[in-house]
Amino acid sequence: MRDFAEMTNLAKDYRALLAETFIIELPEIVSKQVSADGTRKYLVRIAGGHEVEVVYIPEEDRGTLCISSQVGCTLTCSFCHTGTQKLVRNLTAGEIIGQVMLARDDLGEWPEPGTGTGESGPRLLSNIVLMGMGEPLYNFDNVRDAMKIAMDGEGIALSRRRITLSTSGVVPEIAKCAEEIGCLLAVSFHATTDETRNTLVPINKRWNIEELLNALREYPRLSNSERITFEYVMLKDVNDTDADARRLVKLIQGIPAKINLIPFNEWPGAPYQRSDWPRIKQFADIIYKAGYASPIRTPRGEDIMAACGQLKSATERARKSRKQIEAETGLGGAA
Ligand code: SAH
Ligand code: SF4
Repeated sequence: MRDFAEMTNLAKDYRALLAETFIIELPEIVSKQVSADGTRKYLVRIAGGHEVEVVYIPEEDRGTLCISSQVGCTLTCSFCHTGTQKLVRNLTAGEIIGQVMLARDDLGEWPEPGTGTGESGPRLLSNIVLMGMGEPLYNFDNVRDAMKIAMDGEGIALSRRRITLSTSGVVPEIAKCAEEIGCLLAVSFHATTDETRNTLVPINKRWNIEELLNALREYPRLSNSERITFEYVMLKDVNDTDADARRLVKLIQGIPAKINLIPFNEWPGAPYQRSDWPRIKQFADIIYKAGYASPIRTPRGEDIMAACGQLKSATERARKSRKQIEAETGLGGAA
């Protein structure tokens, strides 16, 4: 129900008051692409004409929605496509949870009243990852408010263990994330020396590996959750040696962890290459033998530029270049 007027179980005056005070609105799907592997990518328009991308990844036993928290990103990780798009603005809590709502609309996943969800098998949309565009911990309050709705029994009713927030390492917000959201945490680790991490994940110059690890050590206790996911992008000849794998294992000693190896996803003009397959396997093997799960993330939706780090609003760029052209030619177009 998306109209207060239809809520006839509420008093008429109250309905009017609601309609005056609130709006019921979802971000608009501008386009939808479906990959050969079933991955769906939505380009979504939010207020102000800005756009973000949302990706749905179906798997056998689950369906994961990768949502965005910002338009663009203030950080400039050198291997990330989103990082080349300057921050335009933070998303509101409504726009963040709206991505979940519109995906459920598209999947047709709204149960009949009284039947509950997920009772006849896993939900189509069973997991949320905050791994789309933006740094979620730089938009903390809105992300928290949206995730509260996602977890609320009267809301989307997903367990906090089915929500994973990925951060590049905003150290002061990590404890807050544990206490106020309590979801699972993933961290974009990507390097085993400060020197390399400074170039790949520049926020490392602000909070280095040691400070980051100290914050991570506290997370499982504060959030009462299990393992932290360490994300590690495999970049050929940059961070993928046996020595890196051994250093990684040593660094995370004592932290309950899983290491998610992400083969680098290319994008036009990217300054890196994906590590060769045998190299990735060998790297995974060293970590596995040290006692950690080390799954290699299968790239999904590559054919539609939906894989990790490939997201960037194409039309945002198109608009910018139109503006540039207008500026150069002095021809102003209609807005
Ligand atoms: N800003 C947050 C969440 C979004 S990025 C963060 O950085 O954690 C989600 C994951 O994709 C991060 O681990 C990010 O480092 C990784 N990623 C970015 N660009 C990538 C690329 N081109 N190939 C593979 N992984 C990439
Ligand atoms: Fe921003 Fe994350 Fe991309 Fe870094 S990896 S630029 S933090 S979206």
